[in-house]
Amino acid sequence: MNYVSTRGNGGITTAAGAIKQGLASDGGLFMPEKLPLLDSQMMEKLSEMEYPERAATVLSMFLDDYTYEELLADCREAYGESRFPGGAAPCSAVGSRMRILELWHGPTAAFKDMALQIMPRLFVRALKKTGEKKTALILVATSGDTGKAALEGYKDVEGVKIAVYYPVHGVSRVQQLQMVTQEGNNVQVYAVKGNFDDAQTGVKKIFSDAEQINAAAERGYFFSSANSINWGRLAPQIVYYISAYCDLAASGDIKYGEKVDICVPTGNFGNIFAAYIAKKMGLPVGKLICASNKNNILTDFLSTGTYDRNRSFYTTMSPSMDILISSNLERLLYLVAGSKATAKYMKELSEKGKYTVDSDVYEKIKEDFVGYFCDEEKTSETVDKIYREYGYLSDTHSAVAINAALKYSEETKGEGKIIVASTASPYKFASSVYEAITKTKAPEGPEALEALEKLTGVDIPAPLSGLDRKQIRFDRVIEVSEMPETVRENTR
Ligand SMILES: *Cc1c(COP(=O)(O)O)cnc(C)c1O
Repeated sequence: MNYVSTRGNGGITTAAGAIKQGLASDGGLFMPEKLPLLDSQMMEKLSEMEYPERAATVLSMFLDDYTYEELLADCREAYGESRFPGGAAPCSAVGSRMRILELWHGPTAAFKDMALQIMPRLFVRALKKTGEKKTALILVATSGDTGKAALEGYKDVEGVKIAVYYPVHGVSRVQQLQMVTQEGNNVQVYAVKGNFDDAQTGVKKIFSDAEQINAAAERGYFFSSANSINWGRLAPQIVYYISAYCDLAASGDIKYGEKVDICVPTGNFGNIFAAYIAKKMGLPVGKLICASNKNNILTDFLSTGTYDRNRSFYTTMSPSMDILISSNLERLLYLVAGSKATAKYMKELSEKGKYTVDSDVYEKIKEDFVGYFCDEEKTSETVDKIYREYGYLSDTHSAVAINAALKYSEETKGEGKIIVASTASPYKFASSVYEAITKTKAPEGPEALEALEKLTGVDIPAPLSGLDRKQIRFDRVIEVSEMPETVRENTR
């Protein structure tokens, strides 16, 4: 299967080429030239499988330069019992319509694990398949969740080193402890004096600095990224929507062929775009409900057809959705409007900070998508309400989606099921969750987890327990200007 750029000028490559390269040479994102289709026979077969087999089967439809045996071996390791105890993507019924798809039972308690447990394995195979001899240095700027999930995914992977940069005051105490206590012989973690954008800009500069690239190459290294625009992160996310549908159908909760809606708490538009692909492959899906927090640029886009990033940026209690450029939206534009129009929209976005899609493009998008958002107060209220009414403990990101699903349900008055993606363990954002339920200030850091456990009786997930007793391995705080020097250290 060929992969091409969303902007139409990035050449053609294989799946392995796309995964190794990350971004196309014209600045666009890689997409498969054609989408594979699911038929009812395939759905029935998938229903009978465990998650790792489902994942290998779906991935093999996209990554046809990987053998099924390779994919199955990788999926068994990535999604097996040792990394996802109790199953990779279980569904939980909340009320008559909502089915909460919990994507956070992996090693870092956030949904990023669903992609970052498998992607390093696909990446290593991509290096072999493309005859790459150099060692990859993965550079990651993070606002919290991606950094830890990437560290955990790439630790001790052969042929790879990873360096993570986080804003010194820009991540939660739990997120910081998760990163600075990271184990593995090929990992480095740095606190950067600055905000997330400073760290991100620092990494981007290194990626485009010819001198650094050449110096690293002479020492046998090349740079790569674990960012969510990589196809190797997107493809594994398609699997769990298909898997959830199979589970609901197999248990009799829905009939085969019955349409379900899917609601996703959205930031970079990667997770919800994967649901869209599942729909285009033939999964019986009605609407895709795009849920945003106070940073509601996507809600506005879906209700007007204009994407305008000239607006205030808010820091919220659902920080992984605090984003003004939803990079993966470019992939939707490509599928709906084609590469020429997409290139034009993206040029307008970089020059003017906004673009308006043509009316036929907008109409097409609206056939599949509907957008809702909620502010901080409503997020908090939803965490509290869903806990009181259903005894379900939700994190703040998932609460934004639950809020959207409830509004949608009320407006449409339908009766069909809504799969709601839940993207983090409530313990990852324990302070906000505790405060939403008790209306009192939560204790600081890891003590908030214990307070929440005492309050609710829900167990702290193993990866988050005892964090304060782990050895701190990384305590360097650096200036943004020192980032290139750390790269030199890591390519020595
Ligand atoms: C990354 C993340 C999101 C946003 O997902 P996108 O694919 O960027 O839209 C939502 N919730 C949590 C907890 C996340 O870590």
